[in-house]
Amino acid sequence: MKTAYLSLGSNIGNRLDHLRQAVRLLHDHPAITVRKVSSVYETEPLGLTEQAKFLNIALELVTSLEAAELLRACQSIENKLGRMRKIRWGPRTVDLDILLYNEDSIQTEDLIVPHLRMQERAFVLVPLIEINSEVKHPSTGALYREEPAMREEGVILWKQIQNAGEFLQQD
Ligand code: ATP
Ligand code: MG
Ligand code: MG
Repeated sequence: MKTAYLSLGSNIGNRLDHLRQAVRLLHDHPAITVRKVSSVYETEPLGLTEQAKFLNIALELVTSLEAAELLRACQSIENKLGRMRKIRWGPRTVDLDILLYNEDSIQTEDLIVPHLRMQERAFVLVPLIEINSEVKHPSTGALYREEPAMREEGVILWKQIQNAGEFLQQD
């Protein structure tokens, strides 16, 4: 079994519902168990700033899938939840990015792990550190909690989550 960390974001429609559906679909996958879900954070969009705010979470899962298969599972969930792929960094119902996979470094055409931009993004690091403060870059050993981006403002606690089961329950 491999441990992986994902970052999820949504900024269209019922954002919390999109995140919840994505986590449920991951958990329902026969080869994936979602172990931890962070609190939900609200964040200002980066890049294209003329769009709605995001809700972001991080999660920890265990899986027997290879990294490439996990990416395909994430993309199929994005498609199922109706993600529009027109504009990069634009609005989306849900984005699922693989941050870390089993302390591996991966560089293929489709998949780069650790995620290339994760250490610059407070909206990725803050939820990730909440579920595991010890995570580090697999090759440099640098602790993600010590990245300068961790100290940026604009990542607001929106809904506190104690455990994955609570997150999956409907309101
Ligand atoms: P960003 O990667 O900056 O967060 P994004 O999530 O909006 O941007 P997408 O449109 O979701 O970008 O993905 C673009 C491509 O990134 C995907 O087709 C996928 O193959 C590739 N990719 C590379 N590394 C990863 C990764 N670690 N997790 C998810 N997708 C990845
Ligand atoms: Mg992304
Ligand atoms: Mg993505």
